[in-house]
Amino acid sequence: MVQAHSLGFPRIGVHREMKKAVEAYWSGESSREGLEDAGRELRARHWRQQAEAGLDYVPVGDFSWYDHVLDTSVLLGAVPERFSKSARNVDLDTYFRMARGKSSDGAEATPCEMTKWFDTNYHYLVPELHAGMIFEQGSSKLFDETRDAIEQGYHPKPVLVGPLTWLWLGKAKGEDFDKLELLDRLIPAYVRILGRLSEMGAEWVQLDEPILALDLPEEWREGFTRAYNLLVNRGPKVMVAAYYGSLGDNRDLACSVPVDGLHVDGVRGASELEGVAEALPPGTLLSAGVIDGRNVWRADLEQLLARLRDLERVLGSERLWVAPSCSLLHVPVDLAEEHGLDEQLRGWLAFAVQKLDEVALLKRALNEGREPVAKELTVSAAAAGSRRESDRVRRDGVRERLAGLTPAMARRDHPYAERRRHQRTNLRLPELPTTSIGSFPQTAEIRRARREYKAGRLSEADYDAAMKATIAEDVRLQEEIGLDMLVHGEPERPDMVEYFGQQLDGFAFTTNGWVQSYGSRCVRPPVIYGDVNRPEPMTVDWSLYAQSLTDKPMKGMLTGPVTILQWSFVRDDQPRADTARQIALAMRDEVSDLESAGLRAIQVDEPALREGLPLRRADRQDYLDWAVEAFRIATSGVSDATQIHTHMCYAEFNDIIETIAALDADVISVEASRSEMELLEVFRDYEYPNEIGPGVYDIHSPRVPSVEEMVALLEKAEQVIPRDRLWVNPDCGLKTRGWEQVRPALGHMVAAARKMRERQ
Ligand code: GLN
Ligand code: ZN
Repeated sequence: MVQAHSLGFPRIGVHREMKKAVEAYWSGESSREGLEDAGRELRARHWRQQAEAGLDYVPVGDFSWYDHVLDTSVLLGAVPERFSKSARNVDLDTYFRMARGKSSDGAEATPCEMTKWFDTNYHYLVPELHAGMIFEQGSSKLFDETRDAIEQGYHPKPVLVGPLTWLWLGKAKGEDFDKLELLDRLIPAYVRILGRLSEMGAEWVQLDEPILALDLPEEWREGFTRAYNLLVNRGPKVMVAAYYGSLGDNRDLACSVPVDGLHVDGVRGASELEGVAEALPPGTLLSAGVIDGRNVWRADLEQLLARLRDLERVLGSERLWVAPSCSLLHVPVDLAEEHGLDEQLRGWLAFAVQKLDEVALLKRALNEGREPVAKELTVSAAAAGSRRESDRVRRDGVRERLAGLTPAMARRDHPYAERRRHQRTNLRLPELPTTSIGSFPQTAEIRRARREYKAGRLSEADYDAAMKATIAEDVRLQEEIGLDMLVHGEPERPDMVEYFGQQLDGFAFTTNGWVQSYGSRCVRPPVIYGDVNRPEPMTVDWSLYAQSLTDKPMKGMLTGPVTILQWSFVRDDQPRADTARQIALAMRDEVSDLESAGLRAIQVDEPALREGLPLRRADRQDYLDWAVEAFRIATSGVSDATQIHTHMCYAEFNDIIETIAALDADVISVEASRSEMELLEVFRDYEYPNEIGPGVYDIHSPRVPSVEEMVALLEKAEQVIPRDRLWVNPDCGLKTRGWEQVRPALGHMVAAARKMRERQ
């Protein structure tokens, strides 16, 4: 019989119970028992949902109080000394200290570094590795939860990050060494864990190895073979799970180790499923991840069923499992909790709970034939058809514009050197001009006004008036502080993507579609379901009003097409590049309207450009090409005299400097203060020709840096980039800070710029 499973279920709970429980615990409002009860209840609920849907195993270990990579680190006893003297029996407070730098018992320590998990918007805590480190069991969480699952009558399938992926994601600390050296110490620790799980009665264990979707150095590939040859036949059956991409050149490697099961991403690696089925050794079964675990679309089950039948012919029914492509961590929990979406759109979507049903349905159809599930298959086909043919999805006007795109539309009229002359006369800025990145503190009054407006207790006119009052105050403060190029402060934007999505056709918003970003932080990405169109200007009134209050140049402020795409659930019925171009055309109109309204500088933020980079090197250029094109379509419709700014909040440009230059923005502002301006060296080495605003102070911390500190950074910057191409600004937007920090910090920044100007 074909079996069904999931690689993991969202841990946050349909009503974000996990978030509420941990935050209550952190603030001291609830006890440790309260927290643990909440966790038990969530796990029990999620197992029940999966078993009731018809899955044969339930994942254990996918639940986490913060991050599953951190859970694996703690399980392995990889606990840096600054958190605890002993790596055994790591308690919850130590765990939270590793994650957040503090715990409810008041103790503090520098937390583990956090970074993005593959190409997703989830963030994990980076394991810290030391030469010669010892691995010993640091936590019983996985075993306790496995026992709970067994006691509740389920077939548990414990899940943990596999040894190669765990090491790959770790960072070598202290003396320089090759972290792969630790593999031979790590394997016995995994062997012990597998043995214990088997004794407890776990038939299967899933070891996640998403690095199989990456370009791997040969030593790592050898390490993979060595490790898994030692991890099989240790008690439980071992399922290696690869996901987030096709196996590509790792296919033979993955198929060569004698594990009991191999999970393959059957969405991104759809074309290789059959090849894998043929290449697998006879003792290995294939878990075909055909339901998209990364996106919210309902599957076309008929089509998938046909493909699964082909696989079944090759493998036999005993060697085929059906699954989502990856853990369901990346999709919202339950569509049944969405009350605001219209019926048609709902019919096109599937969240985690619905995806379980899809997996189970495919299994039943394979095992029992079409008959018992004929009705569900018809409904699924009808939904796919309705989406394909809907006139909400296709807009002729948008399609025609896209077809009419010319290379000239992605090119400014003249090169930067020439534009610069016009911009100088147009803007009349001093040397080392000062500006900010866009947002100012989202004060309690702003949030209150928004809440009241949403609740219908504040009229639209009163809400607008409140926002305008804030803008006026922000402009006044900036003039008082003495900034050279002003911003309106973005009080009307709770979120830089949602704000635009809500005004564009082709976007839908959920009320409960939360997805974990990191720890207790959840986001609600918009859903791009159809052709994108801008019915009317989105930001012009606000920017125009702000400009009317000052003689200094006001910067229009927009979110770029790639970032809007990157932070949304994107339609899967056309290439991402086409959706990016559609958004770009909408933003291009906005840029032109801002220019016509008299704005002389317009910033188009692309903080997510880098995170869209595909996992495989071979796919990167294509992505970068269309990402650059999208940005340029959005920004090239203006005259030479209009200054285009962009902003990116990261400090790593080494591998994308060419792309950054290709954007051809007149000014780019970047995060630089924490790297002590080191990142500017890439710009110098590349001979980056346009203007740069390296951040001179870190906005992530409430600390107000002194004038001298900023002068020191500017001196460093000036040694790398000529003064006449340097701007002075903070690292990023200031919306999470308070005015009591922002005012003095910007004041010091302006003073630092003036000091520099005095020294010729
Ligand atoms: N303009 C945005 C702001 O200042 C940019 C935010 C970002 O870079 N993430 O808030
Ligand atoms: Zn930023």
